[in-house]
Amino acid sequence: MKTFCGRANPTTGSMEWLEEGEDYDYHQEIARSRYADMLHDKDRNVKYYQGIRAAVSRVKERGEKAIVLDIGTGTGLLSMMAASAGADFCYAIEVFKPMANAAVKIVEKNGFSDKIKVINKHSTEVTVGPDGDMQCRANILVTELFDTELIGEGALPTYEHAHKYLVQEGCEAVPHRATVYVQLVESKRMWSWKKLFPVHVEAEDGEKILVPPSEMENCPGVPSVCDIQLNQMPSSDFTALSDVVTMFSVDFSKPVQSASTCYRVQLEPVKSGKAQIVLSWWDIDMDPSGMINCTMAPYWVKPTSALQWRDHWMQCVYFLPNEEPVLQGEKLYLTACRDQYSVWYNLQKAREGEDKADEEEHKADVRVESPVCRCRAHLLWNRPRFGELNDQNRTRQYIKALRKVLKTDSVCLCISDGSLLPVLAHYLGAKQVQYFILFFRTLHFTNNLEDKIKIIEARPELLKPSHLEDKKISILVGEPFFTTSLLPWHNLYFWYARTAVSTHLASNVTVLPQSASLHMMIVEFQDLWRIRSPCGICEGFDVQTMDDMIKDSLNFRESKEAEPHPLWEYPCKSLSDPQGVLTFDFTKTVPQHCLSTEGSVTLLRKGKSHGAVLWMEYHLAADISVSTGLMQMSNEKGNCEWNPHCKQAVYFFSSVIESEILSDPTAVTYAINFDPKTGEIAMDFKL
Ligand code: SAH
Repeated sequence: MKTFCGRANPTTGSMEWLEEGEDYDYHQEIARSRYADMLHDKDRNVKYYQGIRAAVSRVKERGEKAIVLDIGTGTGLLSMMAASAGADFCYAIEVFKPMANAAVKIVEKNGFSDKIKVINKHSTEVTVGPDGDMQCRANILVTELFDTELIGEGALPTYEHAHKYLVQEGCEAVPHRATVYVQLVESKRMWSWKKLFPVHVEAEDGEKILVPPSEMENCPGVPSVCDIQLNQMPSSDFTALSDVVTMFSVDFSKPVQSASTCYRVQLEPVKSGKAQIVLSWWDIDMDPSGMINCTMAPYWVKPTSALQWRDHWMQCVYFLPNEEPVLQGEKLYLTACRDQYSVWYNLQKAREGEDKADEEEHKADVRVESPVCRCRAHLLWNRPRFGELNDQNRTRQYIKALRKVLKTDSVCLCISDGSLLPVLAHYLGAKQVQYFILFFRTLHFTNNLEDKIKIIEARPELLKPSHLEDKKISILVGEPFFTTSLLPWHNLYFWYARTAVSTHLASNVTVLPQSASLHMMIVEFQDLWRIRSPCGICEGFDVQTMDDMIKDSLNFRESKEAEPHPLWEYPCKSLSDPQGVLTFDFTKTVPQHCLSTEGSVTLLRKGKSHGAVLWMEYHLAADISVSTGLMQMSNEKGNCEWNPHCKQAVYFFSSVIESEILSDPTAVTYAINFDPKTGEIAMDFKL
């Protein structure tokens, strides 16, 4: 079987579809999967085990045999728990072949082969009967099919099918029930991920305000879930407008319906403000009594001591279609609509004199369509990008730099996806300036500026003098930002594009940014290390086979590669000073030869060196730089503040280095290589 994998090509700025063997897809799936993170989730594992023991006991007390159906067995963990708890037989279903194979090995290694049958099928393909996959229907249904949004991995249709065909009526289910909670909040920070705020431009002749077009203002955005580590959102970044309320729950021990539906709850704001965001999370009760509860509630809802770090389940941020001013104590209705895989929200004010009886009636008209972007901006800019464009501090740096380089007769060319730079520059007041925007991924944001700002729909290498009205470019600008970039250095596509348009540049051209530099720092992660760390024994079961599998897959292709993570969500402590390692000079063309560097970094603090973090800094003009990584660092403890709009590159070390003695500082040596042919950066670290 052949697979096509999308990969960003930093030398062309586009996505390319590469043909890969079956292995590739499979290794990606394993290496980047959340299996390791789940196995490290102690809270989840302990509670599943308790719930499973309780369910097996209840069935046994009724004098029945305990027959377990474990849908999505993964490593086989939950089936092994059931078998240890005294279940008579377990059917462990796993659709992903490499995992099903791993489950067979793990089950065997732990001595449960006679009690657990691993079936490599999707649960909807499983047959029941004397010649079927299962001899009879099960009376205990165990699953872990949930994502941060609860239903995004298809739990509802899977349960619906299982109740119809695979389990007995009145079966026990672990978990027994899931409940979704919501809280209405006002948050400029989170709202800035959905909406473009007016941009303030300090021009020579006073402040000008760039106002987004009305179609963008009224656009409902995109339906994809926004899942984040809400525990990293400081309480100063939002205001709760309501208490936490239960939105809906699902009882997994009864037939489940997956068809689209809406739920409505009444709310009374505890505070007046602007309703913008619905924060949401869920919990699962492992047993009917609700005594064994596993919750994703954020820090302000439960004591910090009860917090379990996990990355496979986080919290959701939903954006209301429009901002709605609400008053403390007024009557509101919040509606959650869902289809089989996703949820979206809507807020209505109660009508005058409305009572309970009317409520049912209105249920029908509250059904709202899933959000679909009409303005195109939400397709071009993802949520962090909206946040970045709304960052006035950042905008100010660009304005300052533009002001330094703009002359009244400048001819500018902008190369960046969906950039506001040309519009900003225009508002700066240099009326004679002529702007060109090169590229296809741009917005027609240039209302009334058509005579000043021209969009050229051509790739850089196809640029012709006629596109530029036979003028030479005196200022080449970029943020740089490209939607296809995954790792920080993928935005070096700006350099490639700059190289491709060289013949159109005036001899004294100004390039903004003039250069970029790659920075690096050794860190200890508070939690993120878990996703790459072997588990060994999980709740008494040997899952080393899984560890080995992940290691193999990591080594398959990616061993010398870094991976992108938004570090504002993943706290870490610096163990070394940040260090500039490579510089990319945009005033020159991309060189033919590799750019390499070698050196060593000294570990200055006690801690575990989990890996290196790398990021780019752009030097816009003399003394004006923007960082896409480290923003600030406390010297005392080494706590870091990261750019909240960008992902940084993380290179996990294959073994953790523990630095203890500061009198004899340890050094980590590195070798970093930028290959201009591929645009990729390879690296290697040694103690
Ligand atoms: N039960 C394991 C793994 C959970 S991850 C644990 O708790 O540690 C969920 C697994 O379910 C994945 O491996 C996925 O491939 C599998 N899966 C999801 N839906 C499925 C379905 N309907 N039938 C079979 N396997 C499914």
